[in-house]
This record gives sequence, C-alpha cells and structure tokens, in this order.
Amino acid sequence: MTYLSAPIYEIFQAVSAVQQGSGALHRINEVLSLPTERDHPVGIVPVQRHAGPVLEFRDVWFGYDPSRPVLRGISFAVPSRGHIALVGPSGAGKSTIFALAERFYEPDRGAVLLNGRDVRFTPYDRHRAAVGLVEQDCPLLAGSLRENLLYGAGPAVSESELSRVLAMTGLTGVVAALPRGLDTPVGERGRQLSGGQRQRVAIARCLLARPRVILLDEPTAHLDADSERALAVALREVAAVCALVVIAHRFSTVRSADRVLVIEGGVVAAEGTHEELLHVDEYYRRLAAQPLHP
Ligand code: ADP
Ligand code: MG
Repeated sequence: MTYLSAPIYEIFQAVSAVQQGSGALHRINEVLSLPTERDHPVGIVPVQRHAGPVLEFRDVWFGYDPSRPVLRGISFAVPSRGHIALVGPSGAGKSTIFALAERFYEPDRGAVLLNGRDVRFTPYDRHRAAVGLVEQDCPLLAGSLRENLLYGAGPAVSESELSRVLAMTGLTGVVAALPRGLDTPVGERGRQLSGGQRQRVAIARCLLARPRVILLDEPTAHLDADSERALAVALREVAAVCALVVIAHRFSTVRSADRVLVIEGGVVAAEGTHEELLHVDEYYRRLAAQPLHP
C-alpha cells in the first residue's frame, strides 16, 4: 500500500481532462480501498467535529525507503482554527509531512489523526475533501476556470458561495478581466493566469470542498508584489474559516502564523511563536533576518 498510493496519485495528477480525472479518481479509490473502508461504507463514518486538534501527527516515522527514515518521530497538533507555519532547510521533510497528511503514503510507525481519529479509518475521498492540498506548482486542468474551481467540490456549490470564495482569494477582479469570465478556458494551453493567480485558484478550489484544514506548500519562487499582497489577504481569510498549515519560504507568511515549527533532518527541531523562536532557535533567527531565504 505504501508504495502503490504515490505513483497512482502521480498518474492521477497527470490526467488533465476533468472528465478523465474523475474516472481515474474512481479507479484509484477502487484500487486503494482498504478493508476498513469496505467495512464502513461512506456515510457511516462521517468526519466528525470534535473539540481537540483537527490534524495531529503522533510520533510519525516514515521513509520512502523504510531503511532510511525521512521523518523521525514527528509530533504536532493543529487546532481547528490554527495557522501553523513549517519552515526548515530544503530536504528536511516538510513536503513529506504533507504527503502523509494527505495519505499519499502511510507512516511506518506512529499515526496521523484527523479530528482525533486515525486517518486509516476514513475513506480516501472523504479524507482528501477534509484535508485540502495546494501544491508548490499549481497545474490547472484543461477546461474553464469554473471547471477548475469546482473540480473536487461538492455537487451543491451555489453561485453565492462561489462568489464569496472568489472574493476571499482575491480573484473577483481577475475573473472580471477574463474574456469569458468563469467560462474562459484556463488549463493546458489556456495560459491566462499568472503563477500567483493559479495558486489562488488552487486555494479557492480547496475552499469550495469545505475542508477542515488546508495545507499550502508555498513555492520558493518569487511572487510579484501584488500577488504577495493578495496571497497574504487570502491566507488571513482562509485561516478565519479553517485550519491552515503553510510550508513557508516568505517571511510575510511565517509572520502571520500563530505558531511556527522548525523542521530539520526529519524532526521538529523547535516550535513556538515568532517571538519565542527568535530567542531560542538559530535557524529561525537567520530566516527572520533574511526574509527571502529559499
Ligand atoms: P522539504 O520539503 O523539506 O524540502 P522533502 O519532504 O521534499 O523535503 O524531502 C525530504 C527527503 O525525502 C529528501 O531527502 C528527499 O530527497 C526525499 N524525497 C522526497 N520525495 C521523495 C520521493 N518521492 N521518493 C524518494 N525520496 C523522496
Ligand atoms: Mg518541499
């Protein structure tokens, strides 16, 4: 299972047409459905609200090659309206933490919990709707902007909810400027959107699936000043409606988080608020002094 899920996910990513995508997703779910999922059909194990953290890692160990662990006992908890930043050097394991949170892989030891429940007991589709992922590179699917936004969302997204999410992610003006508005083809050869705009489309798509937590793997590449400002506003809006975990390379995104985890060599090397880390962590001090550290 550990080895199957990631390659299949990559195939899924490569499928560009929305129609084909949903067919592939269906097949992925068939291939990957665990015995526990067959025992508990969708609808019987809802993702329930609970008072504790929305997402939790408990002593998670994981290696792409199990003899060479990449994550070595990662523990942290994300409160339901928490905004956490993960920082750390390249290769530390930050994106791998997201891959496990999305269940592209399973931990070798330890557990990932969503709403206090081991994620192994929740069907994949339900889990992925609850844990939205915005990847570093935000490819668009072939099709219109509307199709891109609604892909993966529940069937009953109203126009008013769509408008609200466009406003939250700073896309209202972007849509108005497109030749055919929401019906403008934007995927594949329809290169109508900048990197920053594509990233906000991906955030909007996540929001429309009404997740409990959004994971944002921030690109290292420079955003222009307008996109950086629009992203900062969008993140504040997101953090007001669900939990947010950002792999941050920009000091502006680190600064707006309530808590920061410094990931180094597959462990949580330090954890605290911005002010606390400035006092105790050398890596963090250097990052803070060097706002655009990659
Ligand atoms: P970060 O996001 O902090 O830069 P990653 O989680 O991407 O770090 O990578 C952590 C380690 O795992 C690195 O040594 C990287 O080479 C390795 N790694 C990442 N993805 C894979 C993969 N799909 N297969 C094998 N090794 C990987
Ligand atoms: Mg990474």
